[in-house]
Amino acid sequence: MSAGEATTPAALLRPEVIALASYHVPDARGYIKLDAMENPYAWPKDVVSEWLEALRDAQPNRYPDPACKSLKAALRAANDVPEGAALLLGNGSDEIIQIILMALQAGSTVMAPEPTFVMYRQIASSLGLPFVGVPLDSDFRLDRSAFLAAIAARQPAVVFLAYPNNPTGNLFPEEDILAILQDAPGLVVVDEAYAPFADASFMGRLPEFRNLLVMRTLSKLGLAGLRLGFLAGSPLWLDHLEKVRLPYNINCLTQISAEFALSRPELFASQVRDLLRDRRHLSAMLSRMNGVQVYESRANFILFRLAERDADQIFAELKRAGVLIRNLHPAGGALTGCLRVTVGTPDENRRFLEVLRTALALSA
Ligand SMILES: *Cc1c(COP(=O)(O)O)cnc(C)c1O
Repeated sequence: MSAGEATTPAALLRPEVIALASYHVPDARGYIKLDAMENPYAWPKDVVSEWLEALRDAQPNRYPDPACKSLKAALRAANDVPEGAALLLGNGSDEIIQIILMALQAGSTVMAPEPTFVMYRQIASSLGLPFVGVPLDSDFRLDRSAFLAAIAARQPAVVFLAYPNNPTGNLFPEEDILAILQDAPGLVVVDEAYAPFADASFMGRLPEFRNLLVMRTLSKLGLAGLRLGFLAGSPLWLDHLEKVRLPYNINCLTQISAEFALSRPELFASQVRDLLRDRRHLSAMLSRMNGVQVYESRANFILFRLAERDADQIFAELKRAGVLIRNLHPAGGALTGCLRVTVGTPDENRRFLEVLRTALALSA
């Protein structure tokens, strides 16, 4: 036996890594999948043919363009990125969160309101960085004075603000974010993963704040499988973050496919219009159900709370009937009793509502 064979993970790995729970993704095969904020619409046949035609230009024997020049130009145009701002691309915005945090000095504090997108805490923990979650109020509103007090006390190197927030769906008030940008001693990352559905953005304000970075992704728009996110902000920061990014993180198939998708804006715009219409409908139908408290959403999902029911049981009933949504009840705290449903196709939404209605009647 070699000396190394006797060792254990605990003897070699950082304790933060040993302590982490892995990010669990349920097996969704066979379910109506309304758990992950995906766009439910497949591409029409003619679009698929044109896409496959575009992929003929791929050269998988060569490394991809590490600067993604052509794709970046398309992203700039499609997202109104201000002149003077730089772009950094990631293999999903998850990777961008990791790039930002990897570049920080050891011991730097990372801050976000909570509940929020779990990857901020998860990635900070995996890198051994202290994470401070500032509780939202019971209606998931930002507690501005508590947040500014936490900034003053903890001096975070980075603040993450999901805008709109996941899993709550709401947009924090613009004035609150401006106050955070004024007071924060470090970077403020406004995570606009749900920008296509929100009708609100800080992209246009990049020239006003040197410490503002705006992050977006193509995932929620309809390209979750490609893994492409981007960060816009001053080259003062992005030039350094670029050195942490692995040079070939955006593969050639993603570069061609994303550029192709961006050349079909009308297809995605019409899907977004349908999803917004169906979000309104889904929200109205949920609100009519007894014992269901619905939170207003500016994203492509809806958070709701079951006041006097066992959320675990209702979630299990939905799953048994073939509808997979997200159960947030186990997270506890402010999310006790909460479930989150992604807006699907009209048929999927109808089925979800039908099964939920039955499950609520059974448990009454
Ligand atoms: C889904 C989500 C992301 C992750 O996006 P990817 O680009 O798919 O990694 C980032 N931020 C928020 C708030 C999200 O909800």
